[in-house]
Amino acid sequence: MPAKNTVSTAKKPAKTAKAAAYAEPSFAKSKELFLRAAKVIPGAIYGHQSPAITVPGSYPYYATHGEGAYYWDVDGNKYIDYMCAYGPMVTGYGNPVVDAAAAAEFKKGNCFNHPAPVMVELAERLVNLMSFGDWAVFARNGSDLTTWCTLVAREQTGRKKIVAAKGEYHGAHAWCTPGHGGLTEEDRANMLYYTWNKLDELRLLFLNHKNEIAGVIMTPFHHPAFADSELPAAGFWQGVRKLCDENGAVLILDDVRCGFRLDMHGSHAYFGFEPDLAVYCKAIANGYTLSACVGRNSLKTAASNVYLTGSYWNGSASMAAALANLKYLEKIDGIKTMAKLGDMLKDGLVERGKAFGYEQIATGPGALPFVRFGCENNFMHQQVFCAEMTKRGHFLHPHHNWFISTAHTEADIKATLDAAEVVFPMVKKHFAD
Ligand code: PMP
Repeated sequence: MPAKNTVSTAKKPAKTAKAAAYAEPSFAKSKELFLRAAKVIPGAIYGHQSPAITVPGSYPYYATHGEGAYYWDVDGNKYIDYMCAYGPMVTGYGNPVVDAAAAAEFKKGNCFNHPAPVMVELAERLVNLMSFGDWAVFARNGSDLTTWCTLVAREQTGRKKIVAAKGEYHGAHAWCTPGHGGLTEEDRANMLYYTWNKLDELRLLFLNHKNEIAGVIMTPFHHPAFADSELPAAGFWQGVRKLCDENGAVLILDDVRCGFRLDMHGSHAYFGFEPDLAVYCKAIANGYTLSACVGRNSLKTAASNVYLTGSYWNGSASMAAALANLKYLEKIDGIKTMAKLGDMLKDGLVERGKAFGYEQIATGPGALPFVRFGCENNFMHQQVFCAEMTKRGHFLHPHHNWFISTAHTEADIKATLDAAEVVFPMVKKHFAD
């Protein structure tokens, strides 16, 4: 049960200059564009970017430009971005190193009948980075490659079933979409589910489906929407690896969201295990469209037997961007920076919340933190808090894990914590009234 809030007199909220200077932002242009969009685009803004998923009326709908850790909406409001475009921005909007590499490649021509040499260079780099990696392939988004991995696992094993953890997101294709529209019963007929961190449930699936399971697909840690993030229990990943080995199943790591935020050598290195296939996407190219799958030699023939292509998949500018971005992340030790800043945000929100009688629950690693109100399970306080923070220029999502980039600074985090000191009492007042 969540702890109940008690009003604390431990510390009076500091009245900052920022609080005094606050003026309610306008979202007039966002709303105007949204109404225009509604006439020509189904849902106006679809998917997880839909305003309905945050707090309608308190968040911007359209962005115009970004710089470093900041971006601006169509109404001219500026935000410190704690969603990082839902992950792709990792080394800052408009990072000159990444943009220059992409621009130089664009100039030569981005899309040919053939791949460009940079594809080979990028594959070599990924294979060198990943301890288990012997080969790499590329696509444009995460869903295409998580789906492709399930086919490779089936091709390799001659089996049908794929196991996933309940509530995990692996993309927008029929076997894994969290939506309902247009699905048939057959789409999920070969899916089996177990509860994250419950090794016994996974073991039971292998027992009940002897020689039927082609692969197990999982994210490095559990980061469902509308819930706390959950780290793997001690021995969990090693247990999953063992079960896959004992049963001849392919272990697929969906590192789309966490890849290159926890460890340059893949999130499996962070958690101490090795997958057979791993998919990278969001942070690989700092916003340029690219995804990659790295795999073991034992799966190379199966991989070449599963058809893989797309109209823009040879696009070399994104690959040049990825190379530059990965080199840059390594050079500046970006992983360390993100962990430090994210921990500062998590710890700071917990501490500031406490001063106002709130028990904040902070979960996830620093680079992908999530902090929510421990006094509830319905996210009502959380929505008010995040909406007020966003209106003050600190873009926080109420029910999706947040992202830190290397472009954020300690000063950004401090400004956000100062704003939280103003917003916590507002939340208190909102629910007292
Ligand atoms: N897996 C995970 C863990 C993700 O977070 C996402 C994207 N949010 C995907 C797969 C799908 O990637 P994409 O949206 O690029 O298809």
